[in-house]
Amino acid sequence: GGLKPFFNEAMVDFTRADHRAEFPKQIAAVRQQLGKNYPLFIGGKEVKSADTLPSVNPAKPSEVVGVICQAGTKEVGEAIAAAKSAFPAWRDTAPADRAQYLIKAAAIARRRVFELSAWQVLEIGKQWDQAYADVTEAIDFLEYYAREMIKLGKPKRVGNAPGELNHYFYEPKGVAAVIAPWNFPLAIGMGMASAAIVAGNCVVFKPSGITSVIGWHMVEIFREAGLPAGVFNYTPGRGSVMGDYLVDSPDVSLIAFTGSMEIGLRIIDRAAKVYPGQENVKKIVCEMGGKNAIIIDDDADLDEAVPHVLYSAFGFQGQKCSACSRVIVLDAVYDKFIERLVSMAKATLVGPSEDPANYMGAVADDKAMKTILEYAEIGKKEGHVLYESKVPSEGYFVPMTIIGGIKPEHRIAQEEIFGPVLAVMRAKDFDQAIEWANSTKFALTGGVFSRSPEHLAQARREFRVGNLYLNRNNTGALVGRQPFGGSRMSGVGTKAGGPDYLLHFMDPRVVTENT
Ligand code: GLU
Repeated sequence: GGLKPFFNEAMVDFTRADHRAEFPKQIAAVRQQLGKNYPLFIGGKEVKSADTLPSVNPAKPSEVVGVICQAGTKEVGEAIAAAKSAFPAWRDTAPADRAQYLIKAAAIARRRVFELSAWQVLEIGKQWDQAYADVTEAIDFLEYYAREMIKLGKPKRVGNAPGELNHYFYEPKGVAAVIAPWNFPLAIGMGMASAAIVAGNCVVFKPSGITSVIGWHMVEIFREAGLPAGVFNYTPGRGSVMGDYLVDSPDVSLIAFTGSMEIGLRIIDRAAKVYPGQENVKKIVCEMGGKNAIIIDDDADLDEAVPHVLYSAFGFQGQKCSACSRVIVLDAVYDKFIERLVSMAKATLVGPSEDPANYMGAVADDKAMKTILEYAEIGKKEGHVLYESKVPSEGYFVPMTIIGGIKPEHRIAQEEIFGPVLAVMRAKDFDQAIEWANSTKFALTGGVFSRSPEHLAQARREFRVGNLYLNRNNTGALVGRQPFGGSRMSGVGTKAGGPDYLLHFMDPRVVTENT
C-alpha cells in the first residue's frame, strides 16, 4: 500500500537553466555510446543472433545509433517458450506485488529521464521537449497501470441474494505479443508491455526496427527493477521474417499492437485462425491510424487556433496517429486564418532536432520520406500549395507542406500520410464542417476552435472520434486525463492510459459459493 494518488509526471521546463543544460550534455554523452551491439533478451538472458540491423540517426544517416541482433523464428519460438514457462508463477504473483515492479521501473526511468530523452533525439529525431514527454508518458503508464491493477486485483462481491457469495475477479490470458511503433518509442511500447505485465501476462516484445535501441532501454529498466526472468522478452526482428510467426503462434493468447491500419487488420485476420494445440481465442488490442481534422469556426480565436493547428499538424513532423492532417476552415474566416497559419509556418525552421531552433526535424527513415513525398505530389495535383518549406540536403527530411483546395473525395483528405502534409478544406458552414470531419474511415482525434457554445455542444454530440479536443491542440494525450484511442478503423481494444485498458489484458471470472 502507501502509494500516493496518480499524478502526471511534470513536463520539461526550459525556463530552468539546469533543464536547458542537460540536453546538450546528455546528447554528447549518448554520442560516446553510439554504434554498440545489442543482443536479444530471452528468459532473462542476453542472446546473440547472426543477423543484425543498424539503427541510424534519421537527420544524419551515416551516424549508426546501434547495431541490433535480429530474432528469427527460432529465437521468437524460444522467447514464446520462455514466456510460457514463466507464466504460471507470474499469474500467481499477487497483483499488488506485480504492481511494485512497475513502480520500481518508473523510478528507474525517472532517474534516467534526460539520458533516455537524448537517445530519442538521436535515434528518431524527436524535438527535446517531445522526447522528454515520451519518457514521462512511459513513466505515467507505469505509475497509472500499477495503481489500476491494485484496484482491479481485489475481488469484487456482486449480487445480493441471501445464502450466496459471488466473487468477480480477473485473470491474465497468458503469453502476450507486444508489437510497438517507432513514433512514441518508449511510451507506447512501455504502455502496452506494462499493461500486459501488471495484468499477469508474460510478454514477447517486438520494438520497431527503427527504434530498437530505445526498445532495449525497456530491457535495462525491467532488469534493474528485478522483474522475474521470462516475464519480459525482447525480440527485435524483421517483420517479414518473424512477424507472422509471432502472430500465428498457438502459444500466444493476446496481441497488443500499435501501428498502421494495414498491419493491424492483417494481424486481426491472421489471429482469427486457430492452430493445433492452441488454448485461447486470441485477443487483439489494436491501435491504428487516423485522418484527424480540426474545424476552425468563423468566430474562432485565431491567436489560439493558429499555433495549435501548426503544432498538431507538424509537431514531430506530423508522425503521430493523433496528428491533425486536415484543417476544415469556415468560409467566413478562411482567408484570415490561412494568411496567419502560413506566416507562422514561414517563421519556423526545419533541421536536425538536436538543435532546438528547429521546429521540425527529420522523418523516420528513407521509406517514410518517400511515401510522404509521394503524398505531397498527389496533394499538389488535387489542390494547390499554400506553403512548402525548405529542407536540409542531408538526412531524411521532407518539407512542411500545406495544401489548399482539398475536397472530401481527395486522397489526401482520406488516406493517412503520417507526415507533415496538411490538407486545407473550405467549408460553407459548421454543419458541413462536421460532416466532412466525420467523412473518413477513421475516428481517432479531432478538434474544434469555436466560441459558440451551440457549436461546441454540437461537436460533442456529432464529431465522432475517440479523442475530441475543444479549443486546444489534438495531440499529446496525457495518461489518466485523456485516455487515448479511437473507434472505426482507428482501433479496437483501445483507451490506453484509461480505466478500462487493463481489462483488455485479462479474463473475468466469477466464483459463486452457496453459503
Ligand atoms: N498518444 C499520442 C497523442 O495523443 C498519439 C499516439 C500515436 O501516435 O500512436 O499524441
